[in-house]
Amino acid sequence: MTTADPEQAPARGTTAHPTERVAALRPAYQADLAHGTDRFFHRRRTDCPWCASAALRTRLRTTDLLQHKPGRFTLDTCEDCGHTFQNPQLNAKGLEFYYRDFYDGLGEERLGKTFSARTGVHRKQARSVLPHDPAPRYWLDVGTGHGHFCTTARDVFPSTTFDGLDHSQGVELAERAGRLRRGLRGELPELAPRLAGLYDVVSMLHYLEHTTDPSRELASARQVLRPGGLLLIEVPDPRSRSARLLGRWWLPWLQPQHLHLAPAANLRRRLEALGFTVVLEQHGEAHDPIDLLAAVWLFLDRLAPREDAPWHPGGPPGRLRRVLRPALLLAGAPLLVAAMLLDRLLAPVAGRTGFSNAYRLLARRTT
Ligand SMILES: [Zn+2]
Repeated sequence: MTTADPEQAPARGTTAHPTERVAALRPAYQADLAHGTDRFFHRRRTDCPWCASAALRTRLRTTDLLQHKPGRFTLDTCEDCGHTFQNPQLNAKGLEFYYRDFYDGLGEERLGKTFSARTGVHRKQARSVLPHDPAPRYWLDVGTGHGHFCTTARDVFPSTTFDGLDHSQGVELAERAGRLRRGLRGELPELAPRLAGLYDVVSMLHYLEHTTDPSRELASARQVLRPGGLLLIEVPDPRSRSARLLGRWWLPWLQPQHLHLAPAANLRRRLEALGFTVVLEQHGEAHDPIDLLAAVWLFLDRLAPREDAPWHPGGPPGRLRRVLRPALLLAGAPLLVAAMLLDRLLAPVAGRTGFSNAYRLLARRTT
């Protein structure tokens, strides 16, 4: 290997060794954490953001089980409409802090692999539009990340032009890689006025739950659709029996990223009020059979001493920690396999038994 080519130099950006990258990021994270995590939150709400009812109850208290960044998070449920939401909610500073190095930076490579392995899921999501519009001309995927959904959807709709929108840099990489015609970086409500009426289909797949104001996002989706255009939505189902059964170990709670989890009836009514007609509602078809496997994994990952990360105050892990983690994960392997098999076994009946962890809505803009 030659070091004459600057692209090959190991110290450059993402090509640096993981330990060096973690060490380089540590000072900034420690500075952010020096005054605690309270400054990352808005004030706690006393009313439901969906229906304004004051009848709230605490549904879940948890921590960041994926990145293990410091902080505590609470989800409240509205007794009147069933809307479930993070309360207090992260503010802009908090969102930046907790998203940093998840989809980009340190987390990019890991997640890129996860998402590119989800071709089967993406194909099913795309195919649900087929009976309602076999050949849309322009499709906008909102919250597209690195644009992997569009790559698969293009197999189902070969004549369709795909654009993607996301607030992270992944969308620009996706445009450069040719996965999208246009990679629009920013927030939908801000970009919507100049995209008005341009699209035949808008998809929001596991996107709305990440937004600070889902109703505003739906209104913006209507704005960028032409009359008669279709809006495809998939979100986690807070009414899922798995959510009750697995508690904080239910992956779709995904704290602290998921700010709003709306039951299907709420989303239907809001769409109808905005001038949409819901043409399809699916539960079992949107189920992703990973709940048990993910719960066991999250539990083991918390038990086993963790790998180094720049938000932990200490340095790289010592020898004991480096040996313990793989040993514990190895010991947990049979449990992981059993959970995975059970997930697959139960998947065909998840919709009928109330265990589906997500639902899908397809709505047509009628006015
Ligand atoms: Zn409510």
